[in-house]
Amino acid sequence: MSKQMLCLPGDGIGPEIMAEALKVLDAAKLRFGLDIEVSHGLVGGAAIDQYGVPLNDETLALARHADAILFGAVGGPKWDDQPMANRPEKGLLQLRSELDLFANLRPAMLFPQLAEASSLKPELVAGLDILIVRELTGGIYFGEPRGVRTLENGEREGYNTYVYRESEIRRIARVAFEAARKRSGRLCSVDKSNVLEVTGLWREVVIAESAGYNDVELSHMYVDNAAMQLVRAPKQFDVMVTGNMFGDILSDCAAMLTGSIGMLPSASLNEKNQGMYEPVHGSAPDIAGENKANPLAQILSLAMLLRYSLAEAAAADAIEKAVSGVLDKGYRTGDIASEGCQLVGTAAMGDAVVDCLLNA
Ligand code: NAD
Repeated sequence: MSKQMLCLPGDGIGPEIMAEALKVLDAAKLRFGLDIEVSHGLVGGAAIDQYGVPLNDETLALARHADAILFGAVGGPKWDDQPMANRPEKGLLQLRSELDLFANLRPAMLFPQLAEASSLKPELVAGLDILIVRELTGGIYFGEPRGVRTLENGEREGYNTYVYRESEIRRIARVAFEAARKRSGRLCSVDKSNVLEVTGLWREVVIAESAGYNDVELSHMYVDNAAMQLVRAPKQFDVMVTGNMFGDILSDCAAMLTGSIGMLPSASLNEKNQGMYEPVHGSAPDIAGENKANPLAQILSLAMLLRYSLAEAAAADAIEKAVSGVLDKGYRTGDIASEGCQLVGTAAMGDAVVDCLLNA
């Protein structure tokens, strides 16, 4: 039976970079004989224009039915005056919650050819390849009770609740162990178990889960040290797993190690391994429609989709190799341009990846 992929380009540069990812998918189908059926839908501002809402029931039904969703980006000034409940971003948030996408995979990968783009010394980051697995639907961002209350003395007090159930920790730990297994077999769990009971439980459950993964080497690190180590010696890490808030902060920090937002893919998975794959960047309205956007984050998101939701690791590897190949040839979009490079537009970059993929 064909595997089902839903394509949601969204707004701004979304449709341009998606077109390049679909070219690459066609080439991968050809080379690897992949049996993938692609359906298409509108999301975000494009869906507001067409249907009045950022995600309509039909598109949501397509998303539920798909094995994986390739998402572009949403938003832009055109929809800035929409009421909060009908903003383009709501389409994205609704998809995450309706599909229970609790595991956020954020690779921070720096192709050696782009080492100069990082704010760290090239030798510290060249070849960097970290995967941060962040719990996305629990922890302090969702814990109840929460709010601001007024105390007896009239002073106001803000409060949130940091809570994780064992089952929530167990399922994210499993995703991380499985990911580590597919990579170099090392997993670092990040917590603050010296201060926070909830992360003490986190550590206990992760250790218990490790019994089923003897091939993965598990270590633990406090979050303050992890932040320091990420900027001191980031290549010591392979896969990191952590809760929602720590993951939010550490993944942005790790992303910046790579220098370019136009290169970073991400994935959000649920328990059935159904996933939504999207670039880390937004819809870049400032360059939309100008053939300037870097399509590589979208193309690398497609590679992740093939690896994690469609179990097509060989095709995923080949796409990542093709991206590295175009960088070797000196092709660069404006955001990653350097002296002596061959400056290309969005479409030419996509064509170059296709060429490398088919003529490897
Ligand atoms: P952005 O990521 O869209 O852009 C930030 C800067 O990076 C801009 O200068 C842009 O030109 C550049 N950039 C981003 N992607 C690029 C690419 N692929 N190639 C070359 N340059 C690239 O962030 P922003 O400007 O803060 O937000 C713009 C819109 O995107 C807003 O409406 C925001 O709400 C939305 N947004 C959406 C998502 C999402 O869909 N997941 C995420 C972040 C922001």
